[in-house]
Amino acid sequence: KLYNEVQELKGNIRVYCRIRPLLSGEDKKSTVIDNIGENGELGIVNPSKQGKDGQKMFKFDRVFGPAATQEEVFSDIQPLVRSVLDGYNVCIFAYGQTGSGKTYTMSGPDSPSKEEWGVNYRALNDLFHISRSRRSTVEYEVGVQMIEIYNEQLTHGIVSRSQASGLAIPDASMHSVDSTSDVLKLMQIGQANRAISATALNQSSSRSHSVVTVHVRGSDLKAGTTLFGSLHLIDLAGSERVERSEVTGDRLKETQHINKSLSALGDVIFALSQKSVHIPYRNSKLTQVLQSSLGGHAKTLMFVQINPDVKSYSESLSALKFAERVS
Ligand code: ADP
Ligand code: MG
Repeated sequence: KLYNEVQELKGNIRVYCRIRPLLSGEDKKSTVIDNIGENGELGIVNPSKQGKDGQKMFKFDRVFGPAATQEEVFSDIQPLVRSVLDGYNVCIFAYGQTGSGKTYTMSGPDSPSKEEWGVNYRALNDLFHISRSRRSTVEYEVGVQMIEIYNEQLTHGIVSRSQASGLAIPDASMHSVDSTSDVLKLMQIGQANRAISATALNQSSSRSHSVVTVHVRGSDLKAGTTLFGSLHLIDLAGSERVERSEVTGDRLKETQHINKSLSALGDVIFALSQKSVHIPYRNSKLTQVLQSSLGGHAKTLMFVQINPDVKSYSESLSALKFAERVS
């Protein structure tokens, strides 16, 4: 089933669930996962409640269990990624509490091997590959931009501005790239800078939203027409609810900003899924930044990431409820 075909029937929003494996040091028997169905069903169990009371069922467009590889995940979304070359705007989000595998899905682990490459490396690699194969008919130009949103403020400084490209995107932090190795370099700088700026601000990188945007301009050599497409890859801030009473000062402010922006994102996607006339984009920096790429003919995919450890039961439940609302 191709993404585009499925979309015709379903609308432009899909929600996938991905459950990471238990890591070494985590109790292999302490999983909340009860069952995973072939058609996106997910059953979880609450260890502290006996019988039916402790069981909950969810339904998503697809569920990837702990054994799913990066390649399996990517091959499912490949048609979605490629639609960017036909002029679509695509947003792919990773949502979930800190430690649930958002960064693993979007980028991979630190210094990933090729098998461990996450969505962003694979997507760019694939886009180069396909754009090259179409070279005789369409000339593509690809630019990458990385931004971060922390406390409702935007940072462009992820990669140095001196490498700004000539692509028609009005932003100095655009980088023209024409090979996978360019991208690898850029991603590495971006990730390193994310960690450095987080340390400098005395925050954890899990407290900010990271947005990698791939802009594509395609010039059809025969028809003389030009198309624009974009792919936004968003590694969201951790969704964990921190007890208000436990945090003060900067930490409280951070938490309020994260809660505000994640619920604003949920409200926007929910409104889009309901085909509402009014879409509340203005309520957060994140939804403002993505406004032109969410809705209309844009395509949205959200990964809700789950840490299967029983200790994370209540966080997992609230992430699943968030995702269920927008699916
Ligand atoms: P988050 O970005 O949500 O905070 P991470 O992506 O950093 O979470 O994942 C937490 C830990 O779990 C990391 O050590 C990561 O490498 C590991 N991990 C996450 N998902 C997987 C997976 N599918 N397979 C193997 N390890 C994973
Ligand atoms: Mg992360």
